[in-house]
Amino acid sequence: MQTIRKRLSLMFVSCSIVSILLVTLFVNITVNKKFDHYMEDLQDKRYQRIVNYINEDYKRDGKWLESTGKELMHEAYMGNYCLTVKDVNQNVIWGMDSHDLQNRDHLKSMFTQDNGVYTTKTFEITDGGDVVGYVEIGQYSSVLLSKEDIDFKASINKSIIAGGLLTLVLTILLSLYFSKQFSNPIKDVANMSVTLSKGNFDIKSSSESNIEELENLRNSINILAEKLKVQDTLRKKLVSDISHEIRTPLNVLQNNLEAMIDGVFPVTTERLTNLNEEVIRFGRLINNLNVLKEFESESIKIHLEKIKLDEFLSDICKDFYLAAEAKNITIEYYIAPGMSYMINGDRDKLKQVFINLLSNGLKFTNQNGSITIKLYGDAQHFIVEVKDNGIGISSEDLPFIFERLYRGDKSRNQIDGTGIGLTIVKNIIDLHKATIDVDSIEGQGTTVKVKFEK
Ligand code: ADP
Repeated sequence: MQTIRKRLSLMFVSCSIVSILLVTLFVNITVNKKFDHYMEDLQDKRYQRIVNYINEDYKRDGKWLESTGKELMHEAYMGNYCLTVKDVNQNVIWGMDSHDLQNRDHLKSMFTQDNGVYTTKTFEITDGGDVVGYVEIGQYSSVLLSKEDIDFKASINKSIIAGGLLTLVLTILLSLYFSKQFSNPIKDVANMSVTLSKGNFDIKSSSESNIEELENLRNSINILAEKLKVQDTLRKKLVSDISHEIRTPLNVLQNNLEAMIDGVFPVTTERLTNLNEEVIRFGRLINNLNVLKEFESESIKIHLEKIKLDEFLSDICKDFYLAAEAKNITIEYYIAPGMSYMINGDRDKLKQVFINLLSNGLKFTNQNGSITIKLYGDAQHFIVEVKDNGIGISSEDLPFIFERLYRGDKSRNQIDGTGIGLTIVKNIIDLHKATIDVDSIEGQGTTVKVKFEK
């Protein structure tokens, strides 16, 4: 197994090595070829000059002398080539010894090209159109280079190789830097997911990246970690809440029944009725949990139909007048005129929503209080407001009232309930793509706003 950084660096480096080698090779071949062409041109011109010179010298004397063209010997010696002048019968007039050149140091570097084989080229010397002799030019290399030429060629080759090596080093450094930019956030996210898989959700990835996809990945895993943490807390809380909710009525039943069996409490109808109420409450809790389970399963379906919200709400309110009267609570229902409050919704489920909200209003409002239901609209929504002047919700409880089995401290101690009503409400509201907001001041009252898209 390789780390992502190592793999990326290897990829970058191997790609660069291949391209640098290709570029270096290409530049090297091209420069050498051009240089050799240039030197061959020079060489051809030199040959021509030598032939012309000997031609002119011959013409001046009209015959071969031992000195004809001999001035060229020094230049030839310095230029590392040998001259041999012959008459028309191939008799040598004068000539240089090729072995004199063989031991020159810089020539050896030329020998590497064509192994230092001595080759000659013969040119005709003419006079008035007739061939009168020959000049033979011999050298140990196909192209003759001076020491400066060889140095020049070597320095170009050195520069190309140095450039290639420098580029390679730079590429390695850059590839390490860039691969780190990729690998660090990925490594961080990978480590984080391992930690999450071990059940430790208290973790956050902090290595920011300026690469869009990596930054999205980092944000997503952070959100995932947060959600898992919330879910984990809720799950733990749910287990403790359920056991608490079940333990309380069971304890009451057990204690009372034991006291009756032991004869401590006489068995009276009133006591049995109280115990029966506990059993009913217990049953209600289990029923509500069942309802909740249905809502939380993914498969829940809603049956949409057209609902006139104003009529719909007024019908529900009617069911509460009697209960309100018993607590001397007034229920006021107000509809802003000029709109047809038509929505698409599941009639039964929405009924459940407003029954739960009104029940809470009644439950958490003291004697002589009031509940107001308002229906109005803005540009995009129909808004239903259920407002009471009851006990209110503390700011500590407010963020959690939609959680399963959550009950405010006051209601837990003094008011009957299961802590499931608002969870069901929230689920139904979500299914309708509506929103619900709760504003509350402890001791003053609570306002619940449900907003339906028009
Ligand atoms: P339950 O009413 O069975 O306790 P809910 O889910 O309906 O459960 O409500 C959760 C909690 O929210 C309640 O226990 C209570 O503390 C708080 N709550 C809800 N509605 C109101 C309200 N109108 N006034 C005061 N508190 C409320």
